[in-house]
Amino acid sequence: MRSYNTIVIGAGVGGLSAAIRLAQAGQRVLVLEQNPAVGGKMSELRDRGYRWDRGPSVITMRPVFEDLFAAAGRRLADYLTLEPVEPLTRYVWPDGIRLDATRDLARMAEQIESIEPRDVEGYLAYLAYAARLHRVTGPAFIYGDPVSPATLLQVPMRDWLAVDGWRTMDQAIRSHVRSPRLRQLLGRFATYVGASPYRAPATLNVIAHVELTGGVWYPRGGIYAIARALERLAGERGVEIRQGARVEAITVASGRASGVRVAGQTLEAESVLANVDVAKRILRLLPEPLRRRASFEPSVSGFVLLLGVRGLTPGLAHHNIFFNADYRSEFEDVFQRGRPPQDPTIYITATSKTDPEHAPTGCENWFVLVNAPPIDERWDWAREADRYRDHVLATLAARGLDVRDRIEVEHRLTPVDLERLTGARRGALYGMSSNAMWSAFRRPANRAADLPGLYFAGGTAHPGGGVPMVALSGAAAARAILRDARRTR
Ligand SMILES: Cc1cc2nc3c(=O)[nH]c(=O)nc-3n(C[C@H](O)[C@H](O)[C@H](O)COP(=O)(O)OP(=O)(O)OC[C@H]3O[C@@H](n4cnc5c(N)ncnc54)[C@H](O)[C@@H]3O)c2cc1C
Repeated sequence: MRSYNTIVIGAGVGGLSAAIRLAQAGQRVLVLEQNPAVGGKMSELRDRGYRWDRGPSVITMRPVFEDLFAAAGRRLADYLTLEPVEPLTRYVWPDGIRLDATRDLARMAEQIESIEPRDVEGYLAYLAYAARLHRVTGPAFIYGDPVSPATLLQVPMRDWLAVDGWRTMDQAIRSHVRSPRLRQLLGRFATYVGASPYRAPATLNVIAHVELTGGVWYPRGGIYAIARALERLAGERGVEIRQGARVEAITVASGRASGVRVAGQTLEAESVLANVDVAKRILRLLPEPLRRRASFEPSVSGFVLLLGVRGLTPGLAHHNIFFNADYRSEFEDVFQRGRPPQDPTIYITATSKTDPEHAPTGCENWFVLVNAPPIDERWDWAREADRYRDHVLATLAARGLDVRDRIEVEHRLTPVDLERLTGARRGALYGMSSNAMWSAFRRPANRAADLPGLYFAGGTAHPGGGVPMVALSGAAAARAILRDARRTR
């Protein structure tokens, strides 16, 4: 009898989600996290009266979190106050035109009408199309187990066509709406999985459904409240979490993953669940003959500025997007030229708009995010970060948001920092890019194909990146572990 049923490497949302479900099913579970706190890419920073979330800021798919708490016999509301965010996002174009995206169809239609009257019907048809994508792809690609030939055979032929895997996202959007502004707004959802709307399959228009119909949610206290709530729930379910514990290797015995080595000590388990980047970390953790180079394109990374800003900025909502003039060039810079956008789209969130205690009185905590390429030898962040930071702030100034002489506190994260802090290969925010047609079929499954006893959860495994998706990844990994454990017995 081994000491643990499952050892989880990494306390990201995917790892915690799996650990909670496994413990609920009666397993003895140990989570080993190298950082001093849980959450992985979901983390927070406090400095001189300001508080920022350093990672995710937009939370969608509320039912995924409700299910996770329900699976542990608890109510989400007892752990987290998830509030709807309205507007979902405020979009601002270079000419000053503004649109507050909302689930309220009448208000949305009114705003679209003022931009392009013919797009009102197009937008409604697009929402219906995205809802259909969700219905058709949800069971196989999002909520269920990794797609296998058997699952695919269950998909009726008419639904195959509805999966819309042959066009790009942008082509599908163009077939619904004419306004370049609306096309840009809808195309932006590709970045939620770190992809380009000009390359990603149209299937990913499903993301628009989960946000524009399902809504955006903000946990009171900040996004990190989710990590804290999961840590509490895991503790209550009996999961043992050790922080500051970096796993050095996954051990293998009799052709199976048999445990891990941590601080020179070997811990044994029936299953090992890696909540770490499949491509990079796993390669290093496995014994030599089992190392294999995974060769998928990483998702976008990000350049992040955390600003403590003196003064209040009227006109700024909770989530804001300042679009650039040429969206296509932004993705060419990121994915083809390996450099951050010369003319960036800039995202700003200020949680102090909702939680005033996140900044001193009369001040705001800005989280500024710009798409950036995953670490690339053509762009040297050590040399360029200062200049690029000035460029981003100058771009905002040109859009009427000049905060350069109001910044009291400043922190920054480049893709190199993101790789160092979270172990994400090349600083990718969402694991694999999803740019390739049928990318869902190339994503590593939750069970290692060539090493029994080893499982994966997180952004580089099925069903993919983003907070709700990695929570689902943890659920899929836990199902695989429990199924295999039952079979062995
Ligand atoms: C700047 C930024 C913005 C983002 N914005 C959004 C957003 O708005 N909405 C959204 O849904 N998603 C967003 N994401 C993506 C989202 O945060 C991730 O997809 C998700 O949090 C990843 O979870 P994960 O389970 O894959 O684990 P990760 O968060 O990648 O955690 C893995 C954990 O494993 C640990 N680890 C690695 N190696 C070892 C080892 N050898 N031993 C022990 N521990 C180890 C790491 O320290 C880490 O804690 C963003 C990410 C970033 C960085």
